Amino acid sequence: MSQLTFLAVHAHPDDEASSTGGLYRLLADQGVRTVLVTCTNGECGDAPDGAKPDADHHDGDAVAAIRKVELEEAVEILGIRRLIRLGYRDSGMMGWPQNKDPESFWATPVEEAAVRLAAILHEERPQVIMTYNEIGFYGHPDHIQAHRITMRALELIDYEPTLYFNAIPASVMATMRERWEEEDRRKREEELAKGIVREPEVGPVDEDGNEIDMGTPDEEIGAIIDVSALTDAKYDALSAHASQISPDSFWMKMTKDEFRQAMGRECFKRVTNPQGLEGVVDDIFAGYR
Ligand SMILES: [Zn+2]
Repeated sequence: MSQLTFLAVHAHPDDEASSTGGLYRLLADQGVRTVLVTCTNGECGDAPDGAKPDADHHDGDAVAAIRKVELEEAVEILGIRRLIRLGYRDSGMMGWPQNKDPESFWATPVEEAAVRLAAILHEERPQVIMTYNEIGFYGHPDHIQAHRITMRALELIDYEPTLYFNAIPASVMATMRERWEEEDRRKREEELAKGIVREPEVGPVDEDGNEIDMGTPDEEIGAIIDVSALTDAKYDALSAHASQISPDSFWMKMTKDEFRQAMGRECFKRVTNPQGLEGVVDDIFAGYR
């Protein structure tokens, strides 16, 4: 069997850790060649003092420089063999002025970036590729664009790899949502006691303001990977992105034990299926080994 190679197309530094951190470490430990394509430099991330991109003193290039180093550390932790940064500017959230920056990923013609990605695919010839679904999992322009260039690149290459989208099963998403809503209700009650009235928080919305459904129907899940033995590496890789993931974030507040319970599975939807797989597999290279 020729060298197994896995390649993921991610939007920003830190996405590789949050949705595929366990998988990357697992595959590295198995001797699989792992490649990461990160499309943007992350200029719209938080500044070291927590400032958001709309703050006057927020310096996108300085933020990107920090995130470059953080990404390299995460890559080391996850055993990723090759990191390719496409170098586009972070487009920010939908509707932000950064969307219109001609150097932003969102403003880049799909064809242009897809041709670059196709050249990487020709060189690496990964059997398995992962990116996001057509709504970019949660509607972020750079995630949508990562989807678009990947789909186009697949049309430009001379073989058919197995493509997966990262996914959270709808049933799991519903449980998580209940927890968020409960937490938000509790916070609003505390605020109300101090005389502050606030509307309930809503999840990400699309261009028309409709809330985005981030769950994938359970029956569409095609791979469930047990990464429970590797969650420490995933936690450490997330921690490496210290400028973006604060110690009191949802993830970092968990103990490593709690993190293992919550993050011990990574799920994917199978989109192309050249190996003719059926049902849910527990190995992302099912059909190739
Ligand atoms: Zn992202």
